[in-house]
Amino acid sequence: MFGKRIQVFKLFGFTVYIDLSWIIIAVLITWTLAAGFFPYYYQGFSVTEYWIMGIVGAIGLFFSIIFHEMSHSLVSREFGLDIRGITLFVFGGVSEMNEEPDDSRTEFFMAVAGPLSSIVLGLVFYGVYRMGIQAGLPGQANAVLNYLAVINFVLAVFNLVPAYPLDGGRVLRSALWKWKGNLRWATRIATRIGAGFGLGLILLGVLNIISGNFIGGMWWVLIGLFLRSASQTSYTQLLMQRALSGEPVRRFMKKDPVTVSPAMPLDQMIHDYFYKYHYKMFPVQDASGNLEGCITLDRIKEVPREEWDRKRVEDIVSQCSEKNTVDPSMDAMKVMARMNREGVSRLLVTDRGHLEGIVTLRDLFAFISMKLDLEGEEGVRNIPPESWGR
Ligand SMILES: [Zn+2]
Repeated sequence: MFGKRIQVFKLFGFTVYIDLSWIIIAVLITWTLAAGFFPYYYQGFSVTEYWIMGIVGAIGLFFSIIFHEMSHSLVSREFGLDIRGITLFVFGGVSEMNEEPDDSRTEFFMAVAGPLSSIVLGLVFYGVYRMGIQAGLPGQANAVLNYLAVINFVLAVFNLVPAYPLDGGRVLRSALWKWKGNLRWATRIATRIGAGFGLGLILLGVLNIISGNFIGGMWWVLIGLFLRSASQTSYTQLLMQRALSGEPVRRFMKKDPVTVSPAMPLDQMIHDYFYKYHYKMFPVQDASGNLEGCITLDRIKEVPREEWDRKRVEDIVSQCSEKNTVDPSMDAMKVMARMNREGVSRLLVTDRGHLEGIVTLRDLFAFISMKLDLEGEEGVRNIPPESWGR
């Protein structure tokens, strides 16, 4: 789900990231505010002033979204869920959960925390705005404060629409889940409403564009597209999760993986292994079968080309880390989550330092596809590649 992202800062032990897509969005928001919103509602300022207001407004929106996501994360952590960080992603943010909530009650409280926090923040901005008017703050500052109050109320209301994966959709899912005790059914209903709502937003956007409101229409189309794909992906992910969880990775591993010997010259390694198999990592094993470490493409890249014929694998082998190894008893769903997080498609299965086999994303998907094909419901015969992670 995540493309390239950059770390911004840490807060309360959560790392905040920005997805690169968000930078484009930030520019669009600034432009929308500076060229559209502020000149329309607050006349009489200069172009430069509008741009400064736009930039300050966009930064305020950025912090409002972080505040919203941070509230989700803090409540999740209260309930004992493991949250790695927060990524600001296209529209709004995503708290990265390693596990789904275990029960409907947890999901309910996690979901409502976001909109509630936005309402509180909106009230704070509104209060400061009223005081600003009283204190005679310049009109530009008041306009930005007013915008931030309104946008936080908009964030709260929009997120409360019962369209999964919006917060309101999560609330709906938790209620349906509580009612029938069936998470899969609850998710199917909530994500269908999500996809339908997304389609509605796209149509609304197109109507707006046709009638001349290009900027507003563009936003509706963007948000609708994002919501539609997110809701469809959420349902597929749940099915995948259901198919895999409880299965130890031992079941999916291939024994006797391709290994390389420590004494092999680097250029031979590159030509006979990297260029032949196109894997990004190989286990290094000595003659008596001990795992010496791992050799990765990234490590090779650090060696200048003219040294390829002089160096050997053992010169650049690195310790196999948690990033590329798993235990045979580990849950296959957790293994897939780790592949997604580390951006790798192959992991070594090791038992107390001994190489047992290798597990690949391809094998996990082959299993899920088959299981859904035999036991799944109509409409989910194939898993779309975009929900595969990497
Ligand atoms: Zn939220």
